[in-house]
Amino acid sequence: MDVPGFALITGGASGIGRACAATFARDGAAGVAILDVDHNALAAVKAEIEEQQTKQTSSSRCQVDTYTVDVTDEDQVIQTVKAIVSKFGRLDYVVNCAGIAMKHEGGAAYAKTSDWQRILDVNLTGTFFVLKVAAQIMLEQEPIHSAIDGRPLQRGSIINFASIQGVVGIPLSTAYAASKHAVIGLTRTASEDYAAKGLRINAICPGYTETPLITNNPAVMKAMEERVDTAVPMQRLGKPQEIADGVVYLAGGRSSFVTGSVLMVDGGYTQR
Ligand code: NAD
Repeated sequence: MDVPGFALITGGASGIGRACAATFARDGAAGVAILDVDHNALAAVKAEIEEQQTKQTSSSRCQVDTYTVDVTDEDQVIQTVKAIVSKFGRLDYVVNCAGIAMKHEGGAAYAKTSDWQRILDVNLTGTFFVLKVAAQIMLEQEPIHSAIDGRPLQRGSIINFASIQGVVGIPLSTAYAASKHAVIGLTRTASEDYAAKGLRINAICPGYTETPLITNNPAVMKAMEERVDTAVPMQRLGKPQEIADGVVYLAGGRSSFVTGSVLMVDGGYTQR
């Protein structure tokens, strides 16, 4: 893969974000900043990536930094992104992966307004806060060059996490599906605004993926085990690494003519 430069990943302490951080570090990033609310898990992921690097044959090492941040707090987000840029010198990739999920018993008619608001705050507004401050920085910097053939690539590349529930509805998923549909809307309009300036913005839509978001929820896990054969054409859950591979594709030079796109990585779920 071709991801020279510096990456910022939100929600990087667990699941897909964690796999993304490890993949950027392995595939040539000079630095990875990992943001999450979970302070202890951040320390573990940093240690894991540093251990991974000791086994790599390449002599170049990726700088791994962690930041305990709540993406719903705009001031925290602004201060953290500024601190990262002053340390790294620039910011080439942003992966907006932090997210939470919840079902509402009885659907929209009975959903608690506080639950609705919390899901939108993390999944949509958090993504907006990070995109906003990162885009301001990226639009002012010179384009990065490909590590493979030296051609100028983008000024920056932002990947927002939507979901299969960004394009289809799933029972009782009122706020989550609404937030993920909105993330795709944000991605599309922002990609239009900045495409001519060399800032690429895309969305990725994972299908059901084996992470704590699912495995820590016995009801969802049980439903998955019952339905996976019929609901998912590939008849299995995705692995975090399979989603991270899509993210790194959207980030780097292999996707230099791709913006405003929505990449489904879902084992065929949405085509069915
Ligand atoms: P996960 O629960 O394993 O990881 C999510 C991470 O986000 C956690 O480390 C958590 O601490 C962090 N986080 C939550 N709220 C935060 C906040 N306010 N500020 C900063 N960090 C916060 O989940 P995952 O499955 O790896 O999900 C990653 C992304 O993929 C999410 O956006 C999710 O909606 C999306 N997604 C997941 C699946 C799936 O099946 N796992 C499917 C489709 C989309």
